[in-house]
Amino acid sequence: MGYATALRCRKCGREYPLEPRNLCDFCFSPVEVTYDYQSMAKAISRKKVAEGPLSMWRYSDLLSVESEAVDIGTSLTPLVKADRLGRELGLDELYIKNDCLNPTYSFKDRPVSVAVTKAREFGFDTIACASTGNLAASVAAHAAKANMKAYVFVPASVEPGKLVGAAIYNPVLVTVDGSYDDVNRLCNKLVERYNWGFINVNLRPYYAEGSKTLAYEVVEQLGWRAPDCAVSPAASGLSFTQIWKGLNEFAMLGLIEPVSTHMYVTQAAGSSPIVNAFEAGTVHVNPVEPDTIAKSIAIGNPADGYYALRVARQSGGGAWAATDKELIEGMKLLAQTEGIFSEAAGGVVIAGLKNLVASGAIKRNQLTVAFITGAGPRTQEIVSDVVQPLAIQPTLESFEEVLGERV
Ligand SMILES: [Zn+2]
Repeated sequence: MGYATALRCRKCGREYPLEPRNLCDFCFSPVEVTYDYQSMAKAISRKKVAEGPLSMWRYSDLLSVESEAVDIGTSLTPLVKADRLGRELGLDELYIKNDCLNPTYSFKDRPVSVAVTKAREFGFDTIACASTGNLAASVAAHAAKANMKAYVFVPASVEPGKLVGAAIYNPVLVTVDGSYDDVNRLCNKLVERYNWGFINVNLRPYYAEGSKTLAYEVVEQLGWRAPDCAVSPAASGLSFTQIWKGLNEFAMLGLIEPVSTHMYVTQAAGSSPIVNAFEAGTVHVNPVEPDTIAKSIAIGNPADGYYALRVARQSGGGAWAATDKELIEGMKLLAQTEGIFSEAAGGVVIAGLKNLVASGAIKRNQLTVAFITGAGPRTQEIVSDVVQPLAIQPTLESFEEVLGERV
């Protein structure tokens, strides 16, 4: 602990104290946490990390916290060697980072654990967030654990399962008649009026740090190497950029070789401003009106879209948008080859991966990691057509009559 030095503007480089803050006062660009990497490099080693707790907190040196973590049991999640899916898609070395297995069923527990810990350090007794569902659940769960009050704001169109998934932890649940982008704009006004820790506004730089653990874990699970290719979904674009930051921090600290990972960003075609900009060859991410069943990643005006775009380009990666039909096929393919039931965002990743391999962007022999960031059961209605049971009487005759030639 104790290596974080400042918040630094990503654009102009101005520095600020480690305080609740999202934007630079001069150029209004996002700020990020910086560290004394030189001192950290002397203290950190593969051995020291490996001896740490079996959770994201084994990387606490790189997570900017100064106090005991608010931890609901976010463990190391499996990196599954996906041989069946790999064969199906044409990849020899495919891995699935299965982040469905976090306490609130999405990767959000990583960033939220860091952000709520910082909120407590800053003396906030109330935390809040704008969410498409997964973040709301994670914030509410961490607030319960930390005995803090939580206000979670979601679009009224959020899936019923996501509302229950947040409400069970007893936050103040506010449904807003508008899109996620409307909810986010509202929260940016509320932060001026209320002295609350807004997880993805004034605590956003700390929140961002938690997503880096996705990269750290993958590197460690691969035997201290970065993948050749990484495929991840993007909503705000933040976690995608943080995976890249995490990989490069490990290289900077001498824990792995310099990183040559190609970073591929995937979005749903009904909400793909980052992919659109990539394909158009521009640096401007033009907002869109989301229209997709992949609601957890339906952000039309992505706060970190510019940076996500830059990572995809700088790393020699790419971008792909999957239609709703393709993403549903992706969900089914992942479930029916690897036994992993993801939410729609995971279907986007698998559909994107399929197309990236078919188009020759990702080669058969490249070690590829697909990030599956949220679990399927809370939004199961979108694949309810899989339920086609054989209805029988409780007799042998009925079974054989109905099954006929099938057995
Ligand atoms: Zn600035």
